[in-house]
Amino acid sequence: MSVTQLTKSEEAIAVENKYGAHNYHPLPVVLNRGEGVYVWDVEGKKYYDFLSAYSAVNQGHCHPKIVNAMNEQAQTLTLTSRAFHNDVLGKYEKYAAEYFKFDKLLPMNTGAEAVETALKLCRKWAYEVKGIAENEAEIVVCENNFHGRTTTIISFSNDQVARKNFGPYTKGFIKVAYDNFEALEKAFESSKNIAGFLVEPIQGEAGVYVPSDDYLIKAKALCEKHNVLFIADEVQTGIARTGRLLATCGNCSCPKKDCSGTPDVKPDVLILGKALSGGAYPVSAVLANDAVMNVIQPGTHGSTFGGNPVGAAVAIAALEVVKNESLAENADHLGNIFRSEINKFIETSSIASQVRGRGLLNAIVINDDEESDTAWNICLRLRDNGLLAKPTHGNIIRFAPPLVMTEAQLLDCVSIIIETLKEFEK
Ligand SMILES: *Cc1c(COP(=O)(O)O)cnc(C)c1O
Repeated sequence: MSVTQLTKSEEAIAVENKYGAHNYHPLPVVLNRGEGVYVWDVEGKKYYDFLSAYSAVNQGHCHPKIVNAMNEQAQTLTLTSRAFHNDVLGKYEKYAAEYFKFDKLLPMNTGAEAVETALKLCRKWAYEVKGIAENEAEIVVCENNFHGRTTTIISFSNDQVARKNFGPYTKGFIKVAYDNFEALEKAFESSKNIAGFLVEPIQGEAGVYVPSDDYLIKAKALCEKHNVLFIADEVQTGIARTGRLLATCGNCSCPKKDCSGTPDVKPDVLILGKALSGGAYPVSAVLANDAVMNVIQPGTHGSTFGGNPVGAAVAIAALEVVKNESLAENADHLGNIFRSEINKFIETSSIASQVRGRGLLNAIVINDDEESDTAWNICLRLRDNGLLAKPTHGNIIRFAPPLVMTEAQLLDCVSIIIETLKEFEK
C-alpha cells in the first residue's frame, strides 16, 4: 500500500491518465451525477454546469422525458441498421423535417460525421446538378472554423495543434476571413467551381465570435447569386442555444415572435448535432430540400448506427422539450441578463475586458495575453466556488449553461463568476 491516500477524484484521474489516450486536457474534476443545471463530483460536491458538454445538454442533465424515451426504446428495439426499416426513423424524420422546415433529413451520429455528410452532399450536388467538372468542386470555409476532427475537416482548419502531423490533407477548400463579406465575394469571383459555403453562424470554439448583423444575410444572397449552397453548421449554435431555435433563424418554426437582430437566413443545408439528443445519445443530422438531398441515392452514403431507433426516439423527445419548455425564449431572456450584469462589472474591472455572445452562448475575454494561464486558473477557482466552465482559446472563457436554468439560478451564477473574477483583479 502506498503511503499517500488518493482521493476518489485523484484515483479516477490517475486511472484515466494511465489507460486512456491523452487527447484531452480536462479540468481536474470527476463527475458522477447530473440533474438539470447541476452536476456532482465523486466527493459529492455540487456544481453549476456552464459548459453543457459543449452545448449538447441544452435540455439539462438527465431530462426525465428524454431519459424515459431512451429507456423505453432501448427495451424494445435498439438497432436494425438501415438494411431494414424500423418504425421510429420515419416518424423522427417527419417530425424534425417539419420542425426545421426542410423536405428531408439524413440521419448520422456525431457532429463531425454530419459535417462530412454535408460536404459530400455539396460535392455530389455540384457535379450532378450545378454541372461542375468532376473533381473540380471547391467549398469555401472560414478562418478559425471548428467543424470537428476528421481528416477532411482538419484539412481546412487553421488550428495548428489540430492539424500538425495529420497530413496529407484533403483538397478542395478555400479559406476566407470570417465576418468579411468582401473576402467572400472575392473568393466567389475567383473561381467558377465554387459549390458551397460552410459557415458557423457564431464561431463557438474560436471564442464565441458573433459576426456583424448583416454578414450572414449578405453571404446567403451572394450564394444565391452564384448558385452556391449555403451550409450552416449549427451543431453548437442550434437547438435554442443562442436564444432562437436556430442562430440562422430563417423560416424556422421558433415560437419566438420578435427576432429582430437575428440574421433571418434559410440555409440550403443545415447541420445539427449535440443538443439534437439532449446529450443523452449521439444523434446528428443534415437537413436539405429535395433539389439538393435527392442526389443521395442508395449506396452513396451511410452509417450503421445512423437513424437507429434509440437515437430517433431520443431526438424526438429532445426537440419536444425545447418547444414545450420554451428554451429559446428562456435562453434569450437569461442571456440578456447575463451580458448586462457582466458588462456592469467590466466597467470597473481590470481582469475582464469583454463579454459577448447571443442567448446563452457567451464568452468573457480575460485581460491577459493568449499564452497566459490566467483563464485556466480562473476556471479552477470557479470550480472551487461551485461552477464549471472552460477556456476556449487562451484568454477566453465560454459560459454556456443548460437552457433550463431559472433567473434566480442565473443571478446566483453571475455573482459566483463576478466574485471569482474579483479574486484575480490586479
Ligand atoms: C462540436 C462541433 C462539431 C463536431 O461535433 P462532434 O460531435 O464533436 O463530432 C462540429 N461543428 C461545430 C460547430 C461544433 O461545435
